[in-house]
Amino acid sequence: MTQPLLDVRDLRKHFVTRTGRLSRARKVVKAVDGVSFTVGVGETLGLVGESGCGKSTLARTVLFLELPTSGEILFEGGRVTEGEAKRLRRRAQIVFQDPYASLPPRMRIEKILADPLAIHGLADRAAIPERVVQLLRDVGLGDGVARKLPHQLSGGQRQRVGIARALSVQPSLIVADEAVSSLDASVRAQILNLLKDIQERQRLSYLFVSHDLGVVKYMSHRIAVMYLGEIVELAPADPLYERPLHPYTRALLSAVPSLGRDGRGRIRLEGEPPDPGDPPSGCKFHPRCPLAQPICSQTAPELKEWLPGRFAACHFALADIEPKPRPETAT
Ligand code: SF4
Repeated sequence: MTQPLLDVRDLRKHFVTRTGRLSRARKVVKAVDGVSFTVGVGETLGLVGESGCGKSTLARTVLFLELPTSGEILFEGGRVTEGEAKRLRRRAQIVFQDPYASLPPRMRIEKILADPLAIHGLADRAAIPERVVQLLRDVGLGDGVARKLPHQLSGGQRQRVGIARALSVQPSLIVADEAVSSLDASVRAQILNLLKDIQERQRLSYLFVSHDLGVVKYMSHRIAVMYLGEIVELAPADPLYERPLHPYTRALLSAVPSLGRDGRGRIRLEGEPPDPGDPPSGCKFHPRCPLAQPICSQTAPELKEWLPGRFAACHFALADIEPKPRPETAT
């Protein structure tokens, strides 16, 4: 891996919520629960998992859009505190899923792109229009877009504007939170290629959050798989898809047979993820894991390096244990 740009250490984000709509009792939801990872300069780290696993909360907490409950974030070599979050938010930008909702509806595109330049003093007043045109060109848009309002653009054009706005402040990291999920397949491919081109030109780093394993594979150098607020597997992209070490990753890939090449047989992911406010004991995946053994419900496995650069939180990451037959259900 290249030199770390972002270094996240034992990050936690816990929320206190009511146990029910009419209840006064409270419970703690551990949306992010002791997560550590790095993103190198010019690297894309993919973050993947089912809906509700905490990946978007993690992305927001890394940018201090949510205050961490505990843990450390180091960025560009320095520890980020609440007081320094402003510096982080300029150098680390977020691109959201819904470009329409994230752009001010009554503001012309030229102003949307000019405001960050003026606010952060990144261009002389006289030079701003030229810089706006350059930003539009950088994302493959013509000068004519500058005078338009967001609703006059297509979804793909709006997402390009969202990317241009993120680039306007010269970030070193972009967090893309389901940034292509709302786009149709051909536009999605164009935006992914654009992000790759920009990364090559500007040596940007990406934290690329998505539930779509195909998109994450295409974009990422390394991938972190999240389950119930924790990273359960972290590995370079190719080996992770060829031979995932964690049963949850195997199950996710089994659901998309065209992606994985795991010769150890498919694992069916059954049931819904448990309530994060009342997680299972031991390994949080054990109630859904067809490879679970007695130790799994008692002792939580640590995220451990089983092979060079390959981490998994499973007691049996290297054991090819056959799935236990599930009891037949009465009909
Ligand atoms: Fe399955 Fe046990 Fe590994 Fe958890 S620790 S993933 S339950 S085999």
